[in-house]
Amino acid sequence: MINEIKQQVESLKTKGALYVDTRWYPFEESNSLIMWNGNLKDTSFTHQSGIGVRVLYKGAWGFSASSDTSDLAGLYAKAFDNARIAAERVTFPVRLAEKDAIQANFTSPNLINPMEVPLAEKVAFLKQMDEKLGQPGVTQRVTTLNFIHKKIIFVDSEGSEIEKQITEVFAELSVLGQDAQGETHRRSYNLGQEGKDTRGWESIDLSLFNVNAERITEELNQILVADPCPKDDRAVILLPGIMFLQTHETIGHALELDRILGYELAYAGGSFVTLDDFGKLRYGSDKLTARADATLTNSPGSFGYDDDGVPAQDNVLIDKGILVGAITGRQMVEEANAKARRLIFDGSSGANRATSFYRVPIERMTNINIDPGTDGNLEDIIASTEKGIVMDGDRSWSIGSNREQFHFATEIAWLVEDGQKKQVVKNPTYKGSTLKFWNSLSAVGDQSTWKLEFVANCGKGQPNQIMQLGHGVPVCRFDHVRVGE
Ligand SMILES: [Zn+2]
Repeated sequence: MINEIKQQVESLKTKGALYVDTRWYPFEESNSLIMWNGNLKDTSFTHQSGIGVRVLYKGAWGFSASSDTSDLAGLYAKAFDNARIAAERVTFPVRLAEKDAIQANFTSPNLINPMEVPLAEKVAFLKQMDEKLGQPGVTQRVTTLNFIHKKIIFVDSEGSEIEKQITEVFAELSVLGQDAQGETHRRSYNLGQEGKDTRGWESIDLSLFNVNAERITEELNQILVADPCPKDDRAVILLPGIMFLQTHETIGHALELDRILGYELAYAGGSFVTLDDFGKLRYGSDKLTARADATLTNSPGSFGYDDDGVPAQDNVLIDKGILVGAITGRQMVEEANAKARRLIFDGSSGANRATSFYRVPIERMTNINIDPGTDGNLEDIIASTEKGIVMDGDRSWSIGSNREQFHFATEIAWLVEDGQKKQVVKNPTYKGSTLKFWNSLSAVGDQSTWKLEFVANCGKGQPNQIMQLGHGVPVCRFDHVRVGE
């Protein structure tokens, strides 16, 4: 098969194609299970395979994909025809940033392939968790497992051949309960990297889940009898369980270069960032250093090589508060440099990814992280806060289509008064404007507060493409934030 692919790629080159690539998925599998109040509510298993071909001809892309690989010549001819037709309507000719030809392999670290674990063992885990969560105060218990396992072989006309095997494991526990007014509250736990080097079935570590199951049921019961979150201005201390989403929505999506260039507007996907901002916009206080790091061990945002065949990188996006980088693929960096009439981006940042063989790659977040700071551990940050609130757990979020304003509700919060953590409050919320908020960053926790959280279902693109990634974030404090409304 691989030789036939190479022959087809070569034959399109002789017909005038500037560039051709192929992503062949010998298999792509997913498995998900949901247990709701002790009942196995849903279990699904999908298996597909296929091939996707991109052709660049006279400044235009053509794409075709099929799960039927019996007529490869027909598939490549279709992609080439699509490019030829598109080339008649080019407004901005596609150019690709330089890259090296690479022959490589990448396997996401795992010991036990979750697809080979018997269903009974997975159900037994859910059952065990369900029983653990069945405590007074809990009216609904939801436990989920999600697994992805796929092999991708990338071949392009520039001499690259890359084989990737990706394994993902996601797990969530959540409990719901009702307070005296009949209002429902939720507390949850999501499996993150947890300091582990691998992410196969072995990351379903019973002792880890037991500890967290106990914690979330206790915290839910504290929320159920809590007073409402006050409405005022105070310092907000975000734990990684909400800090990851703040980073995702107001740094990650805002810095995807296709959004900045206006390609996602139809899907509420603009950005307030402009090409003029790179190198000078003060995005946050000088305590803020954010990066797109696809080289971290064991994260869904670490994938070896992107779907342009560009190696994973660790790129600074915001350096001590100043905007310096973006999340890019090969095409968008060329377009951005041309439109800005200056060299903003020196090559692709290696972040072009497709959700499957039948979709084209677009700019996707890798691991969008915040560097740990020098303001001590969580206790130190609380001790230096006069009037504040500690928040954790994402409950709901809304955000402007250009990522400039936001409103988040969290699952739980603890008030802080005179340097001391006080009682839990319910229905905590906070809101702000992106730049003002990040510029009010007044404390960044040390490595002990940093946690790599996983995102299983970031959505982008039309048609929609679900993508997996990570956010490594420390505890952060922001001053003068509006809470409780
Ligand atoms: Zn997203």
